[in-house]
Amino acid sequence: MSAPVRVRFAPSPTGLLHIGGLRTALTNYLLARQTGGTFVLRIEDTDRSRFVPEAEQDILDGLAWAGLTVDEGPTQGGDLGPYRQSERRDLYADAAQALLDGGHAYVAFDTPDEIEAMKERHRSKENPSPRYDLATRGEMTNSLTLSADEVAERLARGDEHVVRLLVPEGETITFTDRVRGEVAFETTEVDDQVLVKSDGMPTYHLANVVDDHAMGITDVIRGEEWLSSVPKHLLMYRALGWEAPRLAHLPLILSPTGGKLSKRSADRLGIPVSVVQYREAGFEPEAVVNFLALLGWNPGTEQELFTLDELVAAFDVERIGKSGVQFAMDKLEWFNGQHLRRLSAEQIAERARPAVQAAVGPVDDAALVEAAGLMRERLTRASDLAEATYLFQDPQSFDEAGLKKRWKDDSAALVAAYADRLEADADFSVESTEAVMRQLAEDEGAGFGRIVHPVRLAATGTSVGAGLFETLVVIGKEATVRRLRHAASVLG
Ligand code: GLU
Repeated sequence: MSAPVRVRFAPSPTGLLHIGGLRTALTNYLLARQTGGTFVLRIEDTDRSRFVPEAEQDILDGLAWAGLTVDEGPTQGGDLGPYRQSERRDLYADAAQALLDGGHAYVAFDTPDEIEAMKERHRSKENPSPRYDLATRGEMTNSLTLSADEVAERLARGDEHVVRLLVPEGETITFTDRVRGEVAFETTEVDDQVLVKSDGMPTYHLANVVDDHAMGITDVIRGEEWLSSVPKHLLMYRALGWEAPRLAHLPLILSPTGGKLSKRSADRLGIPVSVVQYREAGFEPEAVVNFLALLGWNPGTEQELFTLDELVAAFDVERIGKSGVQFAMDKLEWFNGQHLRRLSAEQIAERARPAVQAAVGPVDDAALVEAAGLMRERLTRASDLAEATYLFQDPQSFDEAGLKKRWKDDSAALVAAYADRLEADADFSVESTEAVMRQLAEDEGAGFGRIVHPVRLAATGTSVGAGLFETLVVIGKEATVRRLRHAASVLG
């Protein structure tokens, strides 16, 4: 076992917890548990314009639902808090000052219009998106181009300003990413990132570096979209004399039709993007977790089904692939069915109850558990049990296609005869109901199939389902006999 890590999940509370965010959280959690380390939750709420008050609770609920217990965080506490960035502003101000003092950052007074004008001046085919960087900062209004006196004067009179990272010229910044291997960025590709905004709030980049250091984070695991931020962060670590954490960037989650799974493409394909939607749709948290863990990672064996604890044991960051991974809902549905099968009939019944009651009204516990036991192998989600309404009430109609194919001239008579014999069957077990049917088929000289299909239609209204005799036993003798007689009379 490797040394205990300190890892963090650092969501911005800008909306509902995203399914990709849950994957990031899960990966961090697995590494923490696997090494006997610490899983930290840090709320990155410095962007007040995008702040959503309910988001933090949704994040907590989503993590709890998935079974990812947080060791240190805003509601859990811990020695290195507070764990909301809005409560840590002094730390960021100190770091910004240290960067300014060391000549690694500078003050810039440019207005948004002036920055736009600069971009306009430089925009060309070869340079479609000019940046505030080492190529352009010399023509802007900042502490690199103004005299010290002028800067002091402007600051004294309270001119709006930001603090920017001074990216050094002519360097190649290289690092090892545990997923992507050796990565290199030229400093010409890196912009002079704003570190402190004009309202005095730090940007993500400054706060993230300060907190990862202050919270003793040993490993940063996050989505690939943050890879291009790494050179900026590494420049800050170096300038502040801090050791940078190990890095791992998880592959992008792609839409099944290719391209990044954006909110828009997901909506179009009917893929839920918020964790709460999966929860409300009745997915099993262990199935979602299993599915997310296998997005980009494989155990190197045939095993596909994992509980959270099994994942803790088997997961390996070094085995995560670099390429983007497609999000396949059908695979998730499959995982869900598999995880459902690991539950007891009682557990399935409990999960299915709301949907069943919405479909057929109140049902008693024993009936629900029997129904769950009967259907467990056929369910994708527990709520699917509600589709088998015939397990709880007499069928209201009969499947048209089934009737056409299976209901013959002699069906009513055979079904009625079977009802009569069942009424006399004291046992009414899976074995006895089958034996009674075989005897009837023999006595009438009719094929077994000639009876079995009409009986299923008559008793359930459908032509598919679990084993017929198991189903009849769940429906019960009295209801079965009643249904068979009713169907025989109405279907003629
Ligand atoms: N606050 C960032 C986010 O919302 C965190 C990125 C990181 O993990 O560094 O994803």
